[in-house]
Amino acid sequence: MDESEITAKNDRKNRECCPVCLGKNFVPERKIRDHIDHSLFSVVHCHDCSVRFIVDPPSLGTIQNYYTNDAGIRMHKQGSGIHHRLRNLLLRDELKPLTKKLEPGSQIVDYGAGDGSVSKFLHDRGFEISAFDMYPQAEWLYPDIEYQQIDLNIPIPLFRIPGNEKITRAVVLRHTLEHLYEPAKILSIFRDTGVNYVLIVVPNYKSIMRPLLGGNWYYWDPPRHLHYFTERSLYCLAERCGYKLLETTTYAVDEVVTSLHRRMLLKNEETQTNLTRAVTRITDPKSPLAAISSVIASFFGNCIIHALLEKYKQT
Ligand SMILES: [Zn+2]
Repeated sequence: MDESEITAKNDRKNRECCPVCLGKNFVPERKIRDHIDHSLFSVVHCHDCSVRFIVDPPSLGTIQNYYTNDAGIRMHKQGSGIHHRLRNLLLRDELKPLTKKLEPGSQIVDYGAGDGSVSKFLHDRGFEISAFDMYPQAEWLYPDIEYQQIDLNIPIPLFRIPGNEKITRAVVLRHTLEHLYEPAKILSIFRDTGVNYVLIVVPNYKSIMRPLLGGNWYYWDPPRHLHYFTERSLYCLAERCGYKLLETTTYAVDEVVTSLHRRMLLKNEETQTNLTRAVTRITDPKSPLAAISSVIASFFGNCIIHALLEKYKQT
């Protein structure tokens, strides 16, 4: 363990208010572990907006240390062929509520662009895309799409010409909001910079599978995931930041195979066997097995929330 990792372990913050509604009406719910380094975190339940959040996250200055591992790298690497094809099918449905609101040529920021699938999909349909994420430009896969490496927790101007009301501006936060240290602060900045629409895709705390999977639930993923949203908490977040929640839906991808993966990684080094190592490999979140499980889950599950926000005209 190098010095920066030791600092990260010891440098925790204690949140004094809810990062979504600023309320102080929250109570302890459970403890969960990081499946990479086994650090323990406390989840609390905000009774005002219903979000769950990690009350003792690493400080803003050290949280990046929790991304310098396989979990961080996986966020911007493409998965297996089958995974990639399913992703593109899913994207068509996920992005449609947004794209049908926009004229061709509208400016869209892919905030937390990951493997670039969203950017590529929207770019191919004639939108003007800017992608932002934490990893270096050299790892971005699409040279014809503008990409900028930034700290997503530190807002920067998103658009080149601020305040041009003739151009509709939108931001896609696909599996990003749950990673942001201060989600309400970032969303308020979007509002102030003329972002008309925000498309949000986050894990659903109300997933029917979560209680069955307990502490192994893949989407706990602390401290990379800092907040666990419900549809109600997204409504509260939107209202607080000057946005109207136009629509929400839930749907499912795999959470069983990936939760088994997390369970294997949570085992202590001493109890690792050849079998657990083999299971860890085949249950990788971007494995074909996880992709097949996603297809099955799509018939009954609800582990993902999809929400479209529109800026109130006068805020
Ligand atoms: Zn709250």
